[in-house]
Amino acid sequence: MLGQVLQELALLDSVPTGVLINGQWRPASTGRTFDVEDPATGKVLLSIADASAQDGAAALDAAAAAQESWAAVPARERGEILRRAFELVIERTEDFALLMTMEMGKPLAEARGEVTYAAEFLRWFSEEAVRTFGRYSVSPEGKTRLLVQKKPVGPCLLITPWNFPLAMATRKIAPAVAAGCTMVLKPAKLTPLTSMLFAATMQEAGLPAGVLNVIPSTSAGATTGPLIKDSRLRKLSFTGSTEVGRRLLADAAGTVLRTSMELGGNAPFLVFEDADIDAAVQGAMLAKLRNMGEACTAANRFIVHESIADEFVEKFAAKMSKMTTARGTEDESKVGPMIDAKSRNKVHELVSDAVSSGAIAVLGGAPVEGPGYFYQPTILKGVTEGVRILSEEIFGPVAPIITFTTEDEAVRLANNSEYGLVAYVFTKDLNRGIRMGERLETGMLGLNAGVVSNAAAPFGGVKQSGLGREGGLEGIDEYLYTQYIGINDPYES
Ligand code: NAP
Repeated sequence: MLGQVLQELALLDSVPTGVLINGQWRPASTGRTFDVEDPATGKVLLSIADASAQDGAAALDAAAAAQESWAAVPARERGEILRRAFELVIERTEDFALLMTMEMGKPLAEARGEVTYAAEFLRWFSEEAVRTFGRYSVSPEGKTRLLVQKKPVGPCLLITPWNFPLAMATRKIAPAVAAGCTMVLKPAKLTPLTSMLFAATMQEAGLPAGVLNVIPSTSAGATTGPLIKDSRLRKLSFTGSTEVGRRLLADAAGTVLRTSMELGGNAPFLVFEDADIDAAVQGAMLAKLRNMGEACTAANRFIVHESIADEFVEKFAAKMSKMTTARGTEDESKVGPMIDAKSRNKVHELVSDAVSSGAIAVLGGAPVEGPGYFYQPTILKGVTEGVRILSEEIFGPVAPIITFTTEDEAVRLANNSEYGLVAYVFTKDLNRGIRMGERLETGMLGLNAGVVSNAAAPFGGVKQSGLGREGGLEGIDEYLYTQYIGINDPYES
């Protein structure tokens, strides 16, 4: 116990607490600080600088000043900085994992998984940095030569959510570095510490001053709003809720700012009558309980064929009932807390609403007494169409189950959402799996798989789940623009 406390204190001691501007960590211009809490205990972990609009402006000044020289750094060198960062993050897996568990609440084993996932973006884009090819061609009429090249889009504002503190940062920073863009990062106020430690790691990996600037803040709109209006900013990459994303898109219209939007989800999890039920339950555990259900990819609606619904629910409940709650450092196999009281209350509100509409809690259904913001892993059966829990993001360890009879009905239920991030389909019939890929309106599909995230894959949604893709071959394109040069006929004198 004492060893754990000392380890946590030593780790917190290594986290920079200022704003990072032009390579210097310094206090906020107002001198203000804010507290970052451990959601498993409600105790303050650390107080850090609370950036103001003035700090935001200084961060953009630094990013704009560094842009030209950074873009001129050879791609191989940029890639090597990312490769060194990858190695440093992997070397420090235990530190990053513990820090995420402390500020966000996820169990240590999952936090280690996030470190691996986050580091993979550094490795992947260290390799992609040298492959931003253009092309040369002869125009169809045989005269003009067409030279097409890719160029860094310019200074970027990156805004990240609290639920994956390391991966959401590297998924943006790595492709921006690879493309030759400079950045201002605004991490979520609830979990900024991991980003601060990561920014220090990027400095150690050799990232020049001004390329990455970090402005943790409790006044997100006031600090970043002026940057979105500033014509020196060329890109906004946002991950967060659809509600905030919509507002930022409207703001970005003012300067016709290029945007990437990774927004909310409401993933349907379809189990067909021919599915391997044990595999579906295994997938459901991952898709529901990973990150305590606080993931944009979390299964939000379990749509199960009526003929196997009882067996599925029974087996799912048997597995979930073993998942008791605990602080993530105490038992790696348990379920951590919700991020704060407000989130926990929202989860309970959705459960209560479903129960008052006739749903039955087969398991759980209530908050856990404090300290911390825990919620019981919950399964609701008999959920009917039209209740809030099917249309809103739950963001908690709650699985509502609705049944269907025909494939058409399953597709209709699954597509009945303003979101379109990911769907999960469990079936042994390959033709049906492919059909679902064609019929479901989502950017991603897990076929007999409960997790889809992979640095080499294009992550992103359709409908109100977002615009653009992160990771994969597509990820770097979000930070590049295409320039075409028309060359006169070289045979004409
Ligand atoms: P959020 O409330 O939308 O916040 C996301 C980020 O935006 C935070 O850094 C927040 O700052 C900032 N923000 C809030 N209002 C702003 C404003 N007016 N101007 C500029 N920035 C502003 O979302 P969240 O609660 O952190 O994250 C959960 C949401 O993210 C869920 O909807 C989830 O589905 C989504 N998400 C999507 C993906 C994806 O890849 N599609 C991945 C992860 C999460 P502060 O919090 O510091 O105030």
